Amino acid sequence: MSANNSAMNTPNPAAVQPDYPGNLYVVSAPSGAGKSSLVKALLELDARLMVSVSHTTRAPRGQEQHGREYWFVGQDEFQAMIDRGDFFEWAQVHGNRYGTSRAAIERRLQAGEDVVLEIDFQGALQIKQIFPAAVLIFILPPSWEELLQRLRRRGEDTSEVIEQRMINARHEVAQARHFDYIVVNALFDTALFDLKTIVHAQRLKYSTQRRSRPAVFDALQLS
Ligand code: GDP
Ligand code: ADP
Ligand code: 5GP
Repeated sequence: MSANNSAMNTPNPAAVQPDYPGNLYVVSAPSGAGKSSLVKALLELDARLMVSVSHTTRAPRGQEQHGREYWFVGQDEFQAMIDRGDFFEWAQVHGNRYGTSRAAIERRLQAGEDVVLEIDFQGALQIKQIFPAAVLIFILPPSWEELLQRLRRRGEDTSEVIEQRMINARHEVAQARHFDYIVVNALFDTALFDLKTIVHAQRLKYSTQRRSRPAVFDALQLS
């Protein structure tokens, strides 16, 4: 594990409710694999999905807005949130801290809404420990060359930052084996279809159908 990718929260299983009625999808990928573009397209197709806005200590890039892409906070505010137990998970990624606040997801999951987290693999693995029903999806680039091209084409990061992200990507991709599903983002529309299929399959599980179609289950006297 690289020095930049090493810090993470220790989950407190006693503090969480594992039986929320909403579905929780966690999407991870190395930087540049297409995670944000795919999740944005998925949200446009599926009105039942909400994305959680994370907190971060990284500076805003380009057109990013506070509260839209991230809640941009200072180191002190982030540390205060850790100390108060405000985070469901948090991790250090590429030298900055990122976290999912409880406020961002718990109320929604309790209300039966479906939530997507776009977070790094360390956060994803923490979530799986405290909420085993979470669906973990890892997005792979088709090759290292293509990943580098996408980071360069996106034009948001300096060459030093891109170099660091490519180094971190080797370690991140090695974690894909711990995820429930793999989507290879070669052709964008194919990858989007795969992502939609995973979301749909989760909604067809017995426990989910039992909750979302009570009239049918009651009529058939199914518990
Ligand atoms: P990107 O890699 O180009 O999307 O750049 P970002 O700076 O937006 O994100 C850097 C990394 O931090 C990515 O791997 C994100 O998935 C991850 N990340 C973003 N929000 C969170 C969070 O709330 N928790 C954790 N653990 N990781 C996050
Ligand atoms: P991430 O959120 O994983 O860092 P982005 O969604 O920002 O990645 O995508 C990185 C770059 O690659 C963006 O410029 C995006 O438009 C482009 N991209 C995403 N998916 C594909 C694809 N299937 N083919 C070609 N370019 C893609
Ligand atoms: P306040 O209740 O004072 O508006 O917000 C308290 C803190 O929670 C702030 O740091 C704010 O950014 C954060 N916050 C409020 N609502 C949400 C939410 O829905 N998602 C996330 N991620 N943070 C939130």
